Amino acid sequence: MMESEKDPKRIALLLLKATALTDEQVFRELDAPKYTSVDYVRMACHIILKCHRCGTCCTTGDPIRLLPEDAALLAKHLKIPIDKALKKYTIPDPDRPGVLDFKHILPCKFYDAGAKGCKIYELRPWSCRIFPFLGIYGSENQVKVNESCPGSVETMKILTEVVEEARKGQLDSAAVDPEEVRAAKKDLKSILDSI
Ligand code: SF4
Ligand code: SF4
Repeated sequence: MMESEKDPKRIALLLLKATALTDEQVFRELDAPKYTSVDYVRMACHIILKCHRCGTCCTTGDPIRLLPEDAALLAKHLKIPIDKALKKYTIPDPDRPGVLDFKHILPCKFYDAGAKGCKIYELRPWSCRIFPFLGIYGSENQVKVNESCPGSVETMKILTEVVEEARKGQLDSAAVDPEEVRAAKKDLKSILDSI
């Protein structure tokens, strides 16, 4: 992924376009992703995230949830059977039946304090991938800025500014082309998936 693709100004323009119409207005029933406008804001935040590499998220905080596909990736990476990986690294989440947490979370055993990064970055669980802009996709709730994460606070400030600038630059807001809106929605999701 080229850094220019994640340029905040470019992302702000894509975001404005992507949210000009709803998913229901531009996707056919079968290929409708059903994301809300708030989801697209969340995607934009993730894309332009300015991580300070402070390590707070990997060394403190809430339990790290593990999805079945996360566990499968982990087992593959460690070259051990999935049941062994589950036994060694997970514990059932006390609040959510069927959901697994990392067993040792403070700090996460995959955190590399020297390099200030994740030892399994490419395989990090979904829960880590969506941090710090927590929230369930499909929800209309506001994007939640995590105050303990300096990157999330800075990113939201940047996004707010560039969206405001982009909005001012959009003199002709009358014509909204559904094809362009659909392409912008797909672009945002595809950039998000590639990081
Ligand atoms: S807490 Fe935020 S800024 Fe710090 S390492 Fe985690 S994501 Fe990056
Ligand atoms: S798996 Fe990686 S990104 Fe997730 S908490 Fe552990 S060190 Fe951090």
